[in-house]
Amino acid sequence: MRQGMRKGESFPWGELLGYLSRKLVDMAGIQQYRLPRDLCCVLDELLKVMERGPEDKGTILQRVATSAQECKACGLHKFRNKVVVGEGNPDAEVVFVGEAPGEEEDLQGRPFVGAAGKLLDRIIEAMGFRREDVFIANVLKCRPPANRTPKPQEVEACQHFLMEQLRAISPKIIVSLGSVATNALLGSQQSITRIRGQMTQWEGVAVMPTYHPSYLLRYPEKKKEVWEDMKKVLTFLGRPVPKRGQGSNPSEES
Ligand code: SF4
Repeated sequence: MRQGMRKGESFPWGELLGYLSRKLVDMAGIQQYRLPRDLCCVLDELLKVMERGPEDKGTILQRVATSAQECKACGLHKFRNKVVVGEGNPDAEVVFVGEAPGEEEDLQGRPFVGAAGKLLDRIIEAMGFRREDVFIANVLKCRPPANRTPKPQEVEACQHFLMEQLRAISPKIIVSLGSVATNALLGSQQSITRIRGQMTQWEGVAVMPTYHPSYLLRYPEKKKEVWEDMKKVLTFLGRPVPKRGQGSNPSEES
């Protein structure tokens, strides 16, 4: 810590935080039995952040991708072919968040590239975006065997990657696709049927919960409801809402 400060010089919060975190990590090392392991990890991470200084969003997204590629924090790493970190525009206004990679995604290492992905592409295009304009990611970065629903401990182990991606991108709105994505963001245990279409927030960012495209493949009559939700997203963004018969509105498909 600096001994003296000149007039007009801002207080060195970074140095102070670094000093405190270093002290706490030292204490955790000596009296580890008194501090929960998670707290030690947080402090350790805090110390690393203080040492490396602020990162730009590209660096953060790359770091998240590298960490996820190497991650073995849950049992799903044993089954994966490729880690599916997410892709898209780091400056996206809209981020679509799904549940977990499926078979095709696991093989290609890219999110939403199977049948559900093709439907998501049509929804994105109907909204007036190109796929490369938005960012697409999942809560889990590795595929659960046979596409089973993720276990709570898998979500718990993996969701920090998504949160870091979202904080770095800082979109205007997040579209959460299905119960797993919505509940991971909101820390809730609600049915998507109950909360879809109701705009809410995650860390001050708007969230629009809606049905997952895989669900729409099984229940195509629900496309109309998703389109209603996407119209709300467009209105929120101040973008034009295409009318029926214009473009490739998926809700008009049978
Ligand atoms: Fe790690 Fe997530 Fe893959 Fe589990 S699903 S091994 S937490 S990257």
